[in-house]
Amino acid sequence: MLSSQEIISTYNKYVIGNYTRYPVAIVRGEKAEVWDAEGRRYIDFFPGWGCGLLGHCPQPIVEAVQKQVARLIHVPNTWYTEQQGEWAKKLSERSFGGQAFFCNSGAEANEAAIKLVRLHSPKGKYKIITFQGSFHGRTMGAVSATAQPKYHTGLEPLLAGFTYVPYGDINAVQNAIDDETAAIMIEPIQGEGGVRTPPEGFLQTLRQLCDSHKLLLIFDEVQTGCGRTGNWFAYQYYNVEPDIMTLAKAVAGGLAGAAMLARREVAPSLRPGMHASTYGGNPIAAAAGIATIDMIEKENLLQNATKIGELFISTLKEFKNETDLIQEIRGCGVMIGIELAAEGTQYVKACMDNGLLINCTHNNVLRLLPPMNLDEKTATEGLEILIDALRK
Ligand SMILES: *Cc1c(COP(=O)(O)O)cnc(C)c1O
Repeated sequence: MLSSQEIISTYNKYVIGNYTRYPVAIVRGEKAEVWDAEGRRYIDFFPGWGCGLLGHCPQPIVEAVQKQVARLIHVPNTWYTEQQGEWAKKLSERSFGGQAFFCNSGAEANEAAIKLVRLHSPKGKYKIITFQGSFHGRTMGAVSATAQPKYHTGLEPLLAGFTYVPYGDINAVQNAIDDETAAIMIEPIQGEGGVRTPPEGFLQTLRQLCDSHKLLLIFDEVQTGCGRTGNWFAYQYYNVEPDIMTLAKAVAGGLAGAAMLARREVAPSLRPGMHASTYGGNPIAAAAGIATIDMIEKENLLQNATKIGELFISTLKEFKNETDLIQEIRGCGVMIGIELAAEGTQYVKACMDNGLLINCTHNNVLRLLPPMNLDEKTATEGLEILIDALRK
């Protein structure tokens, strides 16, 4: 087997350097743990950048994929497969009863949503209101929807038709609506923007505005969906339903897979010939997606996500009392943000040196997206490493 150094030097020569990578080559994962090429163990509180909601190599997903891969890997969307329909049914039944379009990534799901808005809206209406601090992906449409200038530098001109307003500011939304506005697009809880939860009543008021102005409401649940927050979808906490919802990251149990769900009144506007994705809803992703939902239900993982999330929050809040470093702790289920009074990267590195993988976003927010099937013992072990690093 290659050493970390050998693996890294091949990258440096042949892989484009568009990511900032830590000098660790990971070779194996199991549940909330990974091992590097030298056999060093890390607890992973950020598996797969949110894709590993069931941890590394969850057994039911591995089995479903192994079975499917030997039977049928891919057929194009000019035919029917049992798995894609079943996957759509399961997602629809657990959300708002809509229909699904399948693709392979969060950005791609959001592109589908943007197209659906334009296809469905009356002529002349095409603008979408999005929120500062949002993250919707890296393709040109999705990055144009993303209201963070740092992701735009050098890419202009962006796709026209997005209006950015401050997150949580209902007056700003109201003022931004004009005759050309077609939709509002929002993450119910902002992930990349620092795990920001919406102010009381905000999502409900957005729904009312959409109803009175005949706009479509899009929830980007790429990060918050599929059980991350202890509900199937984050919007279910706020008692509002979107017209369109996008899912990716954890939706296929850690494999590449994504979906856009749309209400039945809206979905048919995505008519034949107007949109497609070659690998979208392929039998392997679909088998993994079905197995993901089954596993979450069989193992009561929504409840476990809530329980483990509470353990994280209470442990961290206790520590907050003894330090000025932590400004705020936010979260819902196994989606936790720790806002610091200092730059966060140094703490990510300190944790890594002590065998814990976490993430920092928005400069000063440590983001934890631990698996929803995390056990208390591993949670406590990881939290001790984290708190130790924050103490120093
Ligand atoms: C990660 C993310 C995306 C982009 O997903 P990709 O699969 O990387 O294209 C979009 N929206 C949100 C909320 C995300 O967290």
